[in-house]
Amino acid sequence: MKTTMRGLVKESAGPGGFVLHTDLPIPEIGEDEVLLQVRCTAFCGTDLHIWEWDEWSRRRVKAPFIPGHETVGVIVAAGEKVTDRRVGQRVSCETHIPCGECWFCKNGMPHICKNVKLFGVTQDGAFAEYAKIRADCTFPIDDDISDEAACMFEPMGAGVHGVEAADVAGKTVLVSGCGPIGLTAVSACRVFGAKTVIACDLFDEKLAIAREMGADVTFNSGKCDLPEEVRKLTGGVGADAAIDITGAEKAINNSLKSVRAAGRLVCVGLPSEKVTMDLTEDLIYREVSMTGVSGRRIWGTWESFAKVMKSPWYKLEHVLGGRFRLEEIDEAVRQIRSGVPGKMILYP
Ligand SMILES: [Zn+2]
Ligand SMILES: [Zn+2]
Repeated sequence: MKTTMRGLVKESAGPGGFVLHTDLPIPEIGEDEVLLQVRCTAFCGTDLHIWEWDEWSRRRVKAPFIPGHETVGVIVAAGEKVTDRRVGQRVSCETHIPCGECWFCKNGMPHICKNVKLFGVTQDGAFAEYAKIRADCTFPIDDDISDEAACMFEPMGAGVHGVEAADVAGKTVLVSGCGPIGLTAVSACRVFGAKTVIACDLFDEKLAIAREMGADVTFNSGKCDLPEEVRKLTGGVGADAAIDITGAEKAINNSLKSVRAAGRLVCVGLPSEKVTMDLTEDLIYREVSMTGVSGRRIWGTWESFAKVMKSPWYKLEHVLGGRFRLEEIDEAVRQIRSGVPGKMILYP
């Protein structure tokens, strides 16, 4: 039996890429863990933070370790206490590894666990031939979902979670930002029964794809007064809900102003700096609710997303960026930095 594997390693605490090792030990599992033979793993914005070693990484990550968390693999071994997973099962992984003990875990919110650990961030991940993870953090993948689609549960799940929080059924919903997560949110709005889906972005090409993936109406927010256009479309009222994927100050304010009084703004995108808003005029006087979502509900969002993936609205080819082998990681990152859209998938 093979005892070593190939994998990418973030070797030290500081800026710099991931290095291919060919003689890493295959992880040894504990009694509540499973060992996965990795099929493929997508590259996340988080991985780029770790690569560049920004403030976020400095606070959380200890090198050396194996990054990568948006993955799908087949279980090849299971610890003795694992009862509801079996060898041969194909699973994807939840990055948020909850403690199971804190107030949030015990009250049905393990995705915002106070002691959360992060797969592929605070412990070894899946840019390798094999990876281990606690069995209760795996999600079985139906046969009609491809490996590449299965890698999308984790990264795009936050967008689907945003749609859940916006409670879109029967409503007019604005999705702001049409990158892969926004496009997924657009399809999810359709599947969850929104009455009208409006999408906005700064790039017309992305808006064309948003229309293919379920948007009824699109606006280039760089070329129009978005709140004004949304009001025109809704008889002067405004959208029932808006979902911000961008995390950009201007876009968040535009979304807030596009929502009707007593409507809801859901924030998914992470602003890189503090955001200024006119709470008095835009939120308080108009009784608008504002909600943040983090990660995915475990496992409600995953089940919802499986439904979105199988719908005719969801078009994986528009969400994928490129396919690479582990040793081609530098090229994958070069393409991400040069602005090639979509998720990059790494094959071990
Ligand atoms: Zn991720
Ligand atoms: Zn907890």
